[in-house]
Amino acid sequence: MDTNFISLMVKCPYCDQSLMDYYKLIRGKPSIRLHVKSGDNEGIINLCSLYGSYDKVSEIDLIDGEIVEILCPVCYRNFKCKTTCNICKAPVFNVKLETGGKLHICSRINCKKRSIIWEDIYDDLTRYFLVHDY
Ligand SMILES: [Zn+2]
Ligand SMILES: [Zn+2]
Repeated sequence: MDTNFISLMVKCPYCDQSLMDYYKLIRGKPSIRLHVKSGDNEGIINLCSLYGSYDKVSEIDLIDGEIVEILCPVCYRNFKCKTTCNICKAPVFNVKLETGGKLHICSRINCKKRSIIWEDIYDDLTRYFLVHDY
């Protein structure tokens, strides 16, 4: 199965609000809307929801290689978790998948680290629920 075609649906692990932005499509799919903080700058960043795509649209200027804070755009809790990136050692942020499990994304701009953490052992059929046809 080609993971490039999986569109991830995520929500905030704290307030349970959907993080999907149905008004801002990236590659034809709803994007993942997050609040980003970089030094004194902050704004909204939209990430492509396709697993394996790193397209993003940010309101603020982001410097390649810098580490940013990622917050919920609804409740402003910080998504940083205790895990660090196994590629670049930056903190990893954590959002909840609507289908169960978590999505870990590296907080360093342009680091390619993204992984899905399954909370339980699901059979392969569960993975098909990640695929959304629009
Ligand atoms: Zn929230
Ligand atoms: Zn990283």
